[in-house]
Amino acid sequence: MTWTFPTSRISHDGAGTVVLEICHRVSDYTAVPRRRGQVFWTSSPLPDGATLLDVYCPVCTADRGLTVSGTWGGPAELTCLCGHSWTPRVPTLSPEQLLRSLVRLALEGSFLGIRYRMIKVDPVDRHPTPLQDAVHPVVIAAERELNLRQWEFTYREGSIASELLKRAGQRAYWSPEALAALVQQKRPTDEESLAWVVDNYRALETCSMSTGGRLGRFLSEAATALRPIDGMTMDDLEPGVTWSRMPPALDDARGALGAVHVVLTAGVTDDVDY
Ligand SMILES: [Zn+2]
Repeated sequence: MTWTFPTSRISHDGAGTVVLEICHRVSDYTAVPRRRGQVFWTSSPLPDGATLLDVYCPVCTADRGLTVSGTWGGPAELTCLCGHSWTPRVPTLSPEQLLRSLVRLALEGSFLGIRYRMIKVDPVDRHPTPLQDAVHPVVIAAERELNLRQWEFTYREGSIASELLKRAGQRAYWSPEALAALVQQKRPTDEESLAWVVDNYRALETCSMSTGGRLGRFLSEAATALRPIDGMTMDDLEPGVTWSRMPPALDDARGALGAVHVVLTAGVTDDVDY
């Protein structure tokens, strides 16, 4: 996606920490007709005791009202009010990292969790789900065979699948205590969810190499479809709006692994549709 948004001021401490100040108009958040003067500022936290250096236009030295634009994974580009554009150089941050930091700061600094309306992104309402799409045919074929009883889990397949489900924090059978604990769980951070996704992908892949038969084929086809998860880092997680409130790429990866786990659960419990 391409991100574009106006800022009030961008500064940095020379050691990789960026501080972003944004001026918001109240009317961007309410239905009240726009009136003059109804503005407020949000700023990301200032590093302790740091001297901040303002980012300014190399042509006219403007350091206020800079507009940020750029595509996730690409460099940040700034434009001043006079229309000069440049790629800023901030010590210890690449222009690509700078764009990611600025987008995240702009989203986090939003007013009371309300989306910062001035952030414009490409008109992508539905996020692509490449991993769910990739694993879909593998999952559908397996579910079909389970439903038609062409595939029934052997004892060994059941114990391999149970191990994978246990690792993922899922159970084929839930006790009331386990369900109660699940409800009490805090929402994991994106870092925790990413670690979960990568760990469970690797478990799936490792398991696929030592498992034969129909389950081995299912696991290795699923691992092939989900291979991009292996190299996924926080830098790949472009922010976006999803029901789960996770970044779209993470939401997709979780959903894709979840589809694999549904097949494993169905095989273990013999809970299939006729
Ligand atoms: Zn300028």
